[in-house]
Amino acid sequence: MPEVTNLADKIEKQLPNELVGFLKQAGEVTAGRGEAVYLVGGVVRDLLLDKTNIDIDLAVEGDAIAFARELIRDRDGKITIHRQFNTAKIVWHEWSVDLATSRRESYSRPGVLPTVKPSSLDDDLFRRDFTINAMAIDLNPHSYGRLIDPYSGQKDIKQGLLRVLHEKSFIDDSTRIWRGLRYEQRLDFRLEADTLILLQRDISMLDSISGDRIRYELECILDEELPEKVLQRAGKLGALERLNPALEDDGWLADKYNNARQMSLPHKPPPDLYMALLAYNLTDKEREQFISYLRLPKPAARTLRDSGGIRAKLTELAAAAIKPSRIYHLLHGYSPQAITSNIIASDSPIACRNIKLYSDKLQHIKPLLNGNDLIKMGIPPGPRIKEILNKLLDARLDGEVKTRQDEEEMVGELSA
Ligand code: ATP
Repeated sequence: MPEVTNLADKIEKQLPNELVGFLKQAGEVTAGRGEAVYLVGGVVRDLLLDKTNIDIDLAVEGDAIAFARELIRDRDGKITIHRQFNTAKIVWHEWSVDLATSRRESYSRPGVLPTVKPSSLDDDLFRRDFTINAMAIDLNPHSYGRLIDPYSGQKDIKQGLLRVLHEKSFIDDSTRIWRGLRYEQRLDFRLEADTLILLQRDISMLDSISGDRIRYELECILDEELPEKVLQRAGKLGALERLNPALEDDGWLADKYNNARQMSLPHKPPPDLYMALLAYNLTDKEREQFISYLRLPKPAARTLRDSGGIRAKLTELAAAAIKPSRIYHLLHGYSPQAITSNIIASDSPIACRNIKLYSDKLQHIKPLLNGNDLIKMGIPPGPRIKEILNKLLDARLDGEVKTRQDEEEMVGELSA
């Protein structure tokens, strides 16, 4: 692959016409304002890799908010402004663009969010995580398409390397450790030798990051094509155990994630299912630590707890002679993803078959008679109605009643 110095052709070929027009206009508008604008971040990397990416990030040497306002004027769209960060997002039709005033960052302590000051593009590129993400494309009309690559990101792309920009990078912000592992697997790159040494040196700095930020990184990983590859690598490098000391990668997860994908087709597995499988072998206490450290939102926390709750019932669910009504009561009320996680993770083929039976069939079964029917049959309103309906449900689940007449006869016997 020859060295590229101007990406105007690639922009033209790889981006949709609407965005190409937008970028050209952006350059003209900033030039008119006496400012400068650059395409930055992942999209520059992906243009060089010939990968589709329409997540447009612009760095403005100037007032990003005023600039965004000017650009949205000609479009039927919406603008969202974050004044404290000097950023704006504009959205029109199916397109969306993030704009930020270029800035420098300084870290008062490892792991905390940085202090930010408006600055040059050079400083803005220097604050970035890896050389491959620290390139920019000039959009200004007189130099449109020029690649700005102060840290030889293009060379690293060619060699498939992830390289940090400076020796303190993982100390300043160790979410970059998880980001690095994610890019490594997604792009099929390697951590450059010195970067790998720094990553291992600074692995304990992951403890300086808030659970919320780590959860965000984990969610990004679970959104990847093959999250297990990232988690496996994290297991080898000691990052996984920072999520919870009991987490280890022994190859178990890869198989389960693959099953989760098969079962979720044509969609991607929901993140909560992946999360429940990741936490599947934790004890109750470890699971609670995991949930509170990552501050998992309520639905995800419930899925993990339900998954553990069902797991505790697997011995009973693995009994060959178990009645369908018993299966129903063992599993009723648990979240669907928790049920699926146990179909995937249970070692017992019988338990697995019984949980599937519940999921495919039993959970949908209801008696043909309802409360009103029972009242019409002379049962007085009150708790007895619920009791009889439960008995009817069990009888129906176990195949003891089949028709409405069977149910009416049973009600007759129960109320006699
Ligand atoms: P993806 O393809 O996963 O969306 P991206 O490269 O677009 O990746 P974003 O998370 O959208 O990544 O961030 C945009 C850019 O901001 C990155 O390319 C990188 O330059 C920079 N960046 C994001 N997070 C960090 C961080 N923690 N430290 C330094 N730079 C970061």
